Amino acid sequence: MIGLFGGTFDPIHYAHLRTALEVQQQLELAELRFIPAAIPPHRPQPLASAQQRLDMVRLAILDQPGMTVDGRELEREGPSYMVDTLASLRDELGEVPLVLILGLDALLGLPAWHQWTRLIGLAHIVVMERPGVVLPEQGELAELVRAHRTEEITRLAQEPAGAMLFLPVSQLAISATDIRARLAAGASPRFLLPDAVLDYIHEEALYGVSG
Ligand code: ATP
Repeated sequence: MIGLFGGTFDPIHYAHLRTALEVQQQLELAELRFIPAAIPPHRPQPLASAQQRLDMVRLAILDQPGMTVDGRELEREGPSYMVDTLASLRDELGEVPLVLILGLDALLGLPAWHQWTRLIGLAHIVVMERPGVVLPEQGELAELVRAHRTEEITRLAQEPAGAMLFLPVSQLAISATDIRARLAAGASPRFLLPDAVLDYIHEEALYGVSG
């Protein structure tokens, strides 16, 4: 089973890494792939280039067994739609179970994603739960959850796609927005992200840091 963790990673930080590891362990994933979005379709454009964000992910997971980074969204023109990424992975990998990992905030925005109803046919969806955030009871997202939700982790390994599972993970109030703001204000974000990533930010003079 391969887990897919998409994001902007502007920059990658310990909440991404810790939650990814917890999902990897709970699902016993053979591989967890980070997939940086080259041109994220539904948000302001990142400050670091796609190549820099890919480099930062690579530095962050350098010594971590089973974690990899996949740069395929940098090779496509136009907005980085997850449906295209999943279709290309499916073509390449055949019938292996794929697990798209989403934060609960990302799940709530899912109906705005390009061709979002195709996603569950291409991968399982695992949602990292956040206490206090409630799912809508009506509407197309509620329908998707009702139709696909399972409580059985073992079901995921038995089929290539089609199940939805909610997993509890440690709650870490770290965000890339906050890290960028600290850097721009001249404050250190150390211990919120790996030192290797922070060193790279300084080398590349990213986020308003002087080189
Ligand atoms: P920004 O602050 O720039 O919006 P971010 O820190 O939220 O960035 P993204 O790259 O947009 O990071 O997030 C990628 C994925 O990681 C999303 O699915 C998001 O839900 C999840 N994620 C981000 N921060 C956290 C966190 N603190 N805890 C759990 N999941 C998170």
